[in-house]
Amino acid sequence: MTSLTRLEEPYASIQTEARAFAGSLEPVAAEADASNDVHHGVLTALRRSGLIRHTVPGAFGGASEQVDPFAVCLIREQLMSVCSHADSLFALQGIGSFALATAGSRELQEAWLPRVATGEVLAALALTEPEAGSDLKGLRTTARRDGDAVVIDGRKSFISNAGEAGFYTVLAKEESGPAEGAGGLSAFLVPADLPGVSTSPAPELIAPHVLGDVHFDHVIVPAGHRIGQPGKGLGPVLATLAVFRISVAGAAVGLAQRALEEATRHARSREQFNRPLVRLGPVAGLLATSWADVASTRLLTHAAARLAGEDPRAHLEHSSLAKLAATEACSRVVDRCVQVMGRWGLVHESRIERCYRQARAMRIYEGASEVISLGIARQLAEEVA
Ligand SMILES: Cc1cc2nc3c(=O)[nH]c(=O)nc-3n(C[C@H](O)[C@H](O)[C@H](O)COP(=O)(O)OP(=O)(O)OC[C@H]3O[C@@H](n4cnc5c(N)ncnc54)[C@H](O)[C@@H]3O)c2cc1C
Repeated sequence: MTSLTRLEEPYASIQTEARAFAGSLEPVAAEADASNDVHHGVLTALRRSGLIRHTVPGAFGGASEQVDPFAVCLIREQLMSVCSHADSLFALQGIGSFALATAGSRELQEAWLPRVATGEVLAALALTEPEAGSDLKGLRTTARRDGDAVVIDGRKSFISNAGEAGFYTVLAKEESGPAEGAGGLSAFLVPADLPGVSTSPAPELIAPHVLGDVHFDHVIVPAGHRIGQPGKGLGPVLATLAVFRISVAGAAVGLAQRALEEATRHARSREQFNRPLVRLGPVAGLLATSWADVASTRLLTHAAARLAGEDPRAHLEHSSLAKLAATEACSRVVDRCVQVMGRWGLVHESRIERCYRQARAMRIYEGASEVISLGIARQLAEEVA
């Protein structure tokens, strides 16, 4: 299926490498995607592939000087088309470490990022709480200054890599401390093995995911583990979202394309009314409209990713636009593909049924569609003369 995009170097090679790696996961993908635990075969393969280096800056073992949103996007497109678990493991290395890479101290970066780049240490970003999802201002986790340390108390919920990560990037309400930071949200790197850090399982989702709650019970963290200025922790977190929201769009494009390939193969080989399904008008319409969705959201996603490479914060609205368009389109495409496959689209654990379940969460995490629509509409209102 042509993609309408022609890649130059180094992107053509990155895409080829990611496609070959993703293809090598086909035999284990169904098993890995059916579990809530880390699949060690997939993790080992991912470590050996070297792809994780694209989630960390070059000074700490990364593949390019700065994390390149377009490279991350291309890799996620390939991984998600085969194995959602591999896609998560890859993406979380960047999602969990990007704040550190952009706003942490040099000492902290040197201590952790090289091990993130090799996949030796898994990373996690802990924002969500039982009472605070889309509205991060409602966070209840607290960070209280105590001499040269900070004491963290609270509970984070639905955290990817919980129980597996070597550290959590945690956003907390700074209770007291320097006047400039008091009451604001601060970010901290919290090693998972500190006393007082524990995890518990999250509810099982329709598409399995390594997920859990993380509890911080009087956790004493050196003040040097702060990421960014006191009370200004939201900045590095938003910078993370600016890059990784686009990569969710990349993953959504990859998943939609895979669903379309599965449905097209089926529609070509199955005959009804003496004709292959693909030659029945309504079915052809479902497939053609889906191709238009995949092709157009890929173009938007790639353009947004390239812009974000110049300055992610300046292009947050483009990342949001790409995430909104690609994840919503992915859901529509997968739904049509199930329809094209008739009863075979409903078989539990078939590839298309897995796509159907996997597509759904992408419209909720890293900014629910309705929440990012608010920002996009605000931008639109400002731009229209
Ligand atoms: C697979 C998965 C992995 C996750 N991993 C992580 C992780 O690693 N780290 C982490 O911190 N969190 C993680 N999360 C949590 C995720 O970030 C939240 O689910 C998300 O932020 C939405 O919050 P919520 O579920 O509490 O929904 P709510 O905030 O309760 O929102 C529910 C719905 O209300 C609507 N809504 C909410 N606010 C508005 C508004 N202002 N305007 C219009 N509509 C609105 C939207 O339709 C939204 O979907 C994960 C979630 C999933 C499903």
